Amino acid sequence: MLPTDVIDRAHAGRCTKEDALLLAAVPLSELFALADELRAEAVGDAVTYILNRNINFTSMCTGTCRFCAFREDDGYKLEIPEILRKVEEAVCAGATEICIQGGLRQDMRLDDYCGILESIKFEFPSVHLHAYSPMEVWHAATGVGDGVSIRDALTALKKSGLGTMPGTAAEILVDEVRARICPDKLNTSQWVEVIRTAHRLGIKTTATIMYGHIESVQDRIDHLFLIRDIQAETHGFTEFVPLPFMPYNNELGRTMIRNGNYGTTGIDDLRMHAIARIVLHTHIQNIQASWVKLGPKLAQYALCCGANDLGGTLMEEKISKSAGATAGEYMPPPEFDWIIRNAGRVPKVRNTLYEYI
Ligand code: SF4
Repeated sequence: MLPTDVIDRAHAGRCTKEDALLLAAVPLSELFALADELRAEAVGDAVTYILNRNINFTSMCTGTCRFCAFREDDGYKLEIPEILRKVEEAVCAGATEICIQGGLRQDMRLDDYCGILESIKFEFPSVHLHAYSPMEVWHAATGVGDGVSIRDALTALKKSGLGTMPGTAAEILVDEVRARICPDKLNTSQWVEVIRTAHRLGIKTTATIMYGHIESVQDRIDHLFLIRDIQAETHGFTEFVPLPFMPYNNELGRTMIRNGNYGTTGIDDLRMHAIARIVLHTHIQNIQASWVKLGPKLAQYALCCGANDLGGTLMEEKISKSAGATAGEYMPPPEFDWIIRNAGRVPKVRNTLYEYI
């Protein structure tokens, strides 16, 4: 039985690291029941999703992340007309959000990042642009001789039409782990600097964790508490998205598989979503279960373990697919509704800022 003081602190949004460590080891039924209770308290029975499209504009990258299956030396780069064609297709299908992320090209300057946003906004002024990870913003600000501050880069991107940012490139926000899985990526304090600056400029972001590789339970918990601390200060996170590491077609996964470790199991995934809900309760309302990573059936079950959002229709998805995800690249709205209703919940289409449409 969970101690009542742990339950009381969770309801009050004051779960401690010791509580989280304890929760990581309690029987699943108790953990899921508490997470589900807090979900109901936070958002009721609505389960949201968004009509959106992913555009990964280039697969070329100077990065060296050991978990990456997306980077290609002779990769592609989409030119603006091709990007606009994809946006048009998405808008015609009812998408309200375009999510844009790509590799770090040596020749891409801040102006190029701004140019993509401006071209889309010029043709499709009402579409919401959810674009560029903190790593891309860092690259735009500091790469190819621009040498502007993060604040100036974000201000320029916002002026060009940036609405919100994905809080990706977070992986595990513990430097010892980052040094082993993505040594050339921005470090924890740099990630936090980009996110804090974005929030201060009124650019909301999501928050993510990529778990299930070399990190410990304590690392996951430290990550969650860092996110919670930032949120207490800025209130700039719209949602938290646990992303299980996909072990295929990448160096890190190959090493793990050689040692008999095939990445997260379904139980581990559900536990992660439940603990995120409990640690972040009263701080971040929305916990997303990614149907692309989990598959629609496990994502549906995650709705009973603290999650209240299923992400987006996507239309295309390259990053998870290249690392072994098999759930597909597009899920139509009637299928979202079907999954949600069959979980006994109420489907709601949302925009990027979680307003119902
Ligand atoms: S994860 Fe992103 S930054 Fe890292 S190598 Fe892959 S594309 Fe590049």
